[in-house]
Amino acid sequence: MRLKTRLVRSGLPGDPPTGAVNPPIYLSTTFEQESPGKPGAYEYIRTGNPTREALEKVMAELEGGARGLAFASGMAALQTILLLFSEGDHFIVGDDVYGGTYRLFARVFSRLGMKASFVDLSQPEELERHLTSRTRAIVVETPTNPLLKVINLQAMASFSHAHGLKLIVDNTFMTPYFQRPLELGADIVFHSATKYLAGHSDVLAGIAVVKDPELGEELHFLQNATGAVLSPFDSYLVLRGIRTLALRMEAHQRGALQVAQFLSERHDVAKVYYPGLPSHPGHHLARVQGEGFGGMVSFLLSDPERAAEVTRKVKLFTLAESLGGVESLISIPARMTHASIPPERRKELGIHDGLIRLSVGIEDPQDLVEDLRQALDETL
Ligand SMILES: *Cc1c(COP(=O)(O)O)cnc(C)c1O
Repeated sequence: MRLKTRLVRSGLPGDPPTGAVNPPIYLSTTFEQESPGKPGAYEYIRTGNPTREALEKVMAELEGGARGLAFASGMAALQTILLLFSEGDHFIVGDDVYGGTYRLFARVFSRLGMKASFVDLSQPEELERHLTSRTRAIVVETPTNPLLKVINLQAMASFSHAHGLKLIVDNTFMTPYFQRPLELGADIVFHSATKYLAGHSDVLAGIAVVKDPELGEELHFLQNATGAVLSPFDSYLVLRGIRTLALRMEAHQRGALQVAQFLSERHDVAKVYYPGLPSHPGHHLARVQGEGFGGMVSFLLSDPERAAEVTRKVKLFTLAESLGGVESLISIPARMTHASIPPERRKELGIHDGLIRLSVGIEDPQDLVEDLRQALDETL
């Protein structure tokens, strides 16, 4: 079956005992046992829940992995993945990863004696320079956030495997509809399902999918032992979102391309970051390693001082953090999502205080372009 069909049909019918087409929301926290210590398929909700498992199986299938696991948030997924490692272990992490990912390494796992080097992974030759005898994994997002650099996943995978490292990919921006990192050699893929997978800005969720069943077992052990699982209701919402992922991703991308083209024609815009533009340095790579470019666009005004004013003048775009919902959002990463990265570091990375990030929704792209035009004209 083709991907668009699998997005809709995977796991259906959802409840063989009743024939319910969609998996019901099983709320029971505990399940009857036949005799003491002899549970059936389920015993306790943290360990396993049929609604959560329905989502986990669909995600494993879509990403092409052996096992999927659903967590209470994207950060909970990453946190649990990092618990696969030990004190003294070293990570090579992309330098413009999600601010919360940076914070988790720099301020939380550092306390447990794990070290991270933040490296520009769009320059694969940088890997060698940061490799140590204690390096255990590479953590990468592609495209990156908010600068939308495209990272070569096959290059990351071959380096990882040549040095016995695990490759961990945050696939939030692309979703399995546009990019499947496990097929390109990654070991673990994770998502903030809060974004495109759920797709309606109304649920917080995380997903991890692993290629190796044994690693899947170990991650499930950690998921159960530490307990940051996704609730049955939220599992249902994410699965419901996934059914329309193809339609939504196509619409996000169509809008993003139109918005990016409009912005790149404006004289008061200094730079547009969108991998779908042929002028983007990662355009070719994005074409080869995935099937699309997504719905995120960032841009820098020639006069960065105008950025805050533009975010106030837009009428359709909502000034808010997050991304991947059906409604378009506008944000200033330096002040919002990436505020937890120290200012000097942001400057080094090119996350300018005046950089504007758009999560292009599925509204009529012409309305989005007109909204941006009036906001830009108003602030000239
Ligand atoms: C939002 C986000 C996260 C964190 O996920 P939560 O669901 O908010 O915990 C991680 N990575 C990326 C790329 C994100 O956009």
